[in-house]
Amino acid sequence: ISKAPTSPGLHVVHIAAEMAPVAKVGGLGDVVTGLSKALQKKGHLVEIILPKYDCMQYDRVRDLRALDFEVESYFEGRLFKNKIWIGTIEGLPVYFIEPLHPDKFFWRGQFYGEHDDFKRFSFFSRAALELLLQAGKKPDIIHCHDWQTAFVAPLYWDLYAPKGLNSARICFTCHNFEYQGTAPASEMASCGLDVQQLNRPDRMQDNSSHERVNPIKGAVVFSNIVTTVSPTYAQEVRTAEGGRGLHTTLNLHSKKFIGILNGIDTDAWNPASDSFLEVQYSATDVLGKAENKSALRRQLGLSRANPRQPLVSCITRLVPQKGVHLIRHAMYRTMELGGQFILLGSSPILHIQREFEGIVSQFQNHDHVRLILKYDESLSHRIYAASDMFIIPSIFEPCGLTQMIAMRYGSIPIARKTGGLNDSVFDVDDDTVPLQFRNGFTFLNADEQGLSSAFERAFNHYNNSAETWQQLVQKVMNLDFSWDSSASQYEELYSKSVARARAAQRT
Ligand code: ADP
Repeated sequence: ISKAPTSPGLHVVHIAAEMAPVAKVGGLGDVVTGLSKALQKKGHLVEIILPKYDCMQYDRVRDLRALDFEVESYFEGRLFKNKIWIGTIEGLPVYFIEPLHPDKFFWRGQFYGEHDDFKRFSFFSRAALELLLQAGKKPDIIHCHDWQTAFVAPLYWDLYAPKGLNSARICFTCHNFEYQGTAPASEMASCGLDVQQLNRPDRMQDNSSHERVNPIKGAVVFSNIVTTVSPTYAQEVRTAEGGRGLHTTLNLHSKKFIGILNGIDTDAWNPASDSFLEVQYSATDVLGKAENKSALRRQLGLSRANPRQPLVSCITRLVPQKGVHLIRHAMYRTMELGGQFILLGSSPILHIQREFEGIVSQFQNHDHVRLILKYDESLSHRIYAASDMFIIPSIFEPCGLTQMIAMRYGSIPIARKTGGLNDSVFDVDDDTVPLQFRNGFTFLNADEQGLSSAFERAFNHYNNSAETWQQLVQKVMNLDFSWDSSASQYEELYSKSVARARAAQRT
């Protein structure tokens, strides 16, 4: 006899602008896929709605086909047809919306950065709800992400619940409060939202301009559940320094606002089965890690004279958020302390890219430093595996994934105590933290001194005892950064919210 589930599964629909691996710009894409897979494994019905971009990785979508069902959706006073496609990504059912609008909204060769992003994504948000309504779906949870699909929250309550799509609670996750998508209030009319009604201080009006609307604020006001990607970041954005103008709104709605740390995809990031590596290894067999170190040094032309010479690395987008000047400082500090340094990173910001190109030419053929200024998935795996230490000196960091990936590969993180880093990296020397959680080196002040002191302590530990360092490596490799526990927290939020709604309906 099969065991009946203790509670019936929920029907969850994610509406998002990204999904790894087919349409990924940053962490958002990883979260949509990772969380969905984990929820599906727990027995919930999870579906995802994405724009049908021309620049997706179509070879990673299985069984893609167009439905013989078109959805008409509103834009600037008229209705436009949308072709609906369905396919499977990582075992998850995904709907793709292709607007049959002459402006070819998602046929631009890139995901973001177009002059009409606000109109394209508010259109998409509405078309996704229209799809759910016309397909007769009755989801329990509609989960939208970042400003691109934040419009779902006001659209749902103002237009779609009255039309009968009224089974759902709305959950909104903000992956980075830096990007709020504000626009002149009048632009909101294009998707049929009521400018007069919504451009008010208690609704969507931007907190620093009366003529502008803020989609993130709208989603905070109109969603039943609001989350961000780590507990510490959730606290930081409620302060004037960290809130990017939204701290007052978040404080007003603090009862429904919570931070949940992201997980990582432990199938994709697994040193025991990673085919990018020279040799696979695990916590019970860490010898392979040294082989990967030697292989990477050979591949990159670094000196292999001393196998115990500490290898420090950094894999990142080179943007101010990531503490670019501290990354540069770490490189020089590593050399002074006798280590080797590898940076894999690229920058969308021209002057930063130029600056690092300058450093590259300065260190050409250097025995102990290599900077690789591009995006390279396979090399990133080899670096995580080869490194002894991994630096993440971010100025702010909503969650951060690289510290968790590094630990899974036995590289010890050196991180600034901010956002999700503060929730996942705990200092080896910090007596206030229970011993079993201590897993790296941290510093508080975002300056060279702060970084240097953590660095020196890490090098001391490394040089003092190979044995205790190895124990630390094994310990961090055994930590659980899978989606499992984070998905349980989302599951609980969803269930409570649905239960509250049902109870309210009965009374
Ligand atoms: P963010 O989303 O702000 O860029 P995260 O730490 O959340 O930062 O995620 C970064 C992800 O991108 C990690 O999986 C990391 O390995 C990857 N990554 C960053 N830069 C590069 C690069 N140059 N080459 C390969 N992978 C990279």
